[in-house]
Amino acid sequence: MISLKDLSPLERFVLAAGGASVVAALIVLFAASDLDLNVLRTLKAVRSGSGGAVTETRYNPFGVVGLGLVTAAALAAVGLLAVLFLRLLSRVAGVSLTGDSGVKDAVAKAGQKLDRELASVLGLIRSHITTNEAYAKSLASAQARLSGLSEGEQVRVIVSLLVAENERMRQDSTTLKGRLEESHKQIQSLRSSLSRAEEVVLKDPLTGTGNRRQFDVTMARAIQEAEQSTSPLSLVMCDIDHFKRVNDAFGHQVGDELIKMFARVIEGSVRETDSVIRYGGEEFAIILPATDQDGARAIAERVRRQFESKRLTIRETNQKIGQLTASFGVAQYRTGDSLEALVQKADTKLYDAKSAGRNRVATYGD
Ligand code: GH3
Ligand code: MG
Ligand code: MG
Repeated sequence: MISLKDLSPLERFVLAAGGASVVAALIVLFAASDLDLNVLRTLKAVRSGSGGAVTETRYNPFGVVGLGLVTAAALAAVGLLAVLFLRLLSRVAGVSLTGDSGVKDAVAKAGQKLDRELASVLGLIRSHITTNEAYAKSLASAQARLSGLSEGEQVRVIVSLLVAENERMRQDSTTLKGRLEESHKQIQSLRSSLSRAEEVVLKDPLTGTGNRRQFDVTMARAIQEAEQSTSPLSLVMCDIDHFKRVNDAFGHQVGDELIKMFARVIEGSVRETDSVIRYGGEEFAIILPATDQDGARAIAERVRRQFESKRLTIRETNQKIGQLTASFGVAQYRTGDSLEALVQKADTKLYDAKSAGRNRVATYGD
């Protein structure tokens, strides 16, 4: 269900405007009904003048205002429904209409800026090369023109020519150096903007672990490495047990904190080279390069024990949460497996661990 918190300011405005229009329309229609029960019907007044009876059409102002408000409310409701429908569609398709497009724009802009910066540096270098060539040509032509002069004069002319040309080259090099340094700074700032954008695109905002996009990128790379070497690769899928009950008993916010805590427990039990991914709500994937299924089982077992040993209390209310547990499915990559096939194996085992009673590790092939 989409809650108010999920709506953008514009969507909230549309919702508020729709609601306000409905209430206002009801008030006006009630007021109008005191004066004329059929509020939307035009009122006709017959006036008698000297030229005979004149029929004049007048509209009940309350009826007109009421009709206007009802129309506004209907338009707002249609707009809101369209927005909610689009959001639902985007969720189903796995894309966010707002957050991602902002990031994509930022990345595209940064890319264009980088292109411009590189073009400008290339232009400078080309012009520096042209100046160098002009310098060499100028010296060569001077040499040809010196033949008629005495030796002493030749030396004087050559020295003054060299000094002048050198000064030109020095100035040109100083400009180039300044521009290159400026460019270097620009490129560094672009690089940090890009890495911030990458963080947003690949990280889960709640837990700070990788998200599904990161999962696809890391798994594709890990599978490629495993294919090219004899090094094993394993995947663990894990999911907190009966998490719905926890949410129902303590609320969504406490639930969120527990998801973060689960992420920290997993991260604390794996190596730097392993990747922890928030795969779904309270489901995580652990990608374990250079680890066979026995090693992966041991890591999953360690996470399971760590998690079940936590005794949690809500600080504000001193309320005890009680023991939490999680279930784990482990699978090792086998040559020829696709990403989907490996996920499927680990998922099947996670399902087995759940149906065998939860709080346990099940390994593919055992
Ligand atoms: P099971 O042992 O079979 O896994 O039972 P479960 O209740 O954990 O069932 P399931 O995994 O299907 O349900 C996950 C629940 O987690 C559903 C949803 O209410 C909750 N959830 C999903 N994402 C979030 C989130 O970001 N925050 C919070 N607080 N709860 C979430
Ligand atoms: Mg669960
Ligand atoms: Mg789940």
